[in-house]
Amino acid sequence: MRKIRTAFLIVLILVVTLTGCGAEQVSDTADFFAMDTYMRITVYGDGADELTRQAEEEIMRIENVLSFSGDGEIGTINEHGGGTVSEETQELLERALELSRDTGGAFDITIYPVVEAWGFFSGEYRVPGDSELSDLLGLTGWEKVSVVDGQVSFQVPGMGIDLGGIGKGYAGQRVHDMLWEAGISSALLELGGNVCLLGGRPDGTAWRVGIMSPTDGEEYVGILEARDVSIVTSGGYQRYFEEDGVRYHHIIDPATGYPADSGLLSVTIVCDDGARADALSTALFVMGEEEAVSYWAARDDFDFILVTQDGRVVITPGLREDFQISEGYDLEVAA
Ligand code: ADP
Ligand code: MG
Repeated sequence: MRKIRTAFLIVLILVVTLTGCGAEQVSDTADFFAMDTYMRITVYGDGADELTRQAEEEIMRIENVLSFSGDGEIGTINEHGGGTVSEETQELLERALELSRDTGGAFDITIYPVVEAWGFFSGEYRVPGDSELSDLLGLTGWEKVSVVDGQVSFQVPGMGIDLGGIGKGYAGQRVHDMLWEAGISSALLELGGNVCLLGGRPDGTAWRVGIMSPTDGEEYVGILEARDVSIVTSGGYQRYFEEDGVRYHHIIDPATGYPADSGLLSVTIVCDDGARADALSTALFVMGEEEAVSYWAARDDFDFILVTQDGRVVITPGLREDFQISEGYDLEVAA
């Protein structure tokens, strides 16, 4: 079985191979920590050094605006129970609320008070009681938020917004578009578990992206060949704590207030829009296999790779040609 340490490494290997082959393209890479995760941006082509720096700055800017805490726009709204936002934030909120509606609330940016109660923002983890959770669920619900002319208001005091399930995807897409407009035709954006590809590799071939095993951080369930799409994975294995031998992860089922327990270990979404890919990876993880497949079938405008608790890897037909499964995994194609 093919073993490579981390997604980070495979990217390193690809980049090294390319320079080793004597690719004449100029390139530059920025490694930094933002949005609570390690990021790496590699840009190929003229102006790569300056553009890499601008890309990093853009991500820092977005992080400040969207953070749930602090004096950014969302943090301020959460603290004051509403307020005004910029046009950019209004647009993202409208998109996020639309995705909440479209996923039947499986993705819900008003999950904020519940995520806070579990300690996922502060790192002071705890298991809230049943009655605490059912009270907090009264403070959630995307339909209780209105955004009109830049004015955000909540129907119930104590509500708040968490863009943690869409922010990285949005940031990746913004940087992608910024680089594209600057004339770049090859770049690799790795924002934690989110990958955003601009074009193909500098030699014109497709990027090869490893889809990490949710149970073994040193293995891949397979390799996906792709260009100019976002590839976003959500899984219960990324961020969690344990108490009394039970594992509690950070993707909450808005219907119960508990970590989603849908029979899936991870969901990878492949989509030409990064923000949508990010929101859908969270939503389909909450939905579970059956609902995820019908959600996809009714739209058929994105692709997925589901890893189930019983060891199956389920992909959409659109990925059949481009996904190479690792030994030891069973591949199924959704219909
Ligand atoms: P990650 O950010 O680790 O890549 P996700 O994209 O799945 O993973 O986002 C998870 C984050 O989104 C959580 O840390 C939390 O802040 C928030 N969140 C948790 N459950 C939901 C949900 N059902 N809908 C929207 N956001 C959620
Ligand atoms: Mg997400």
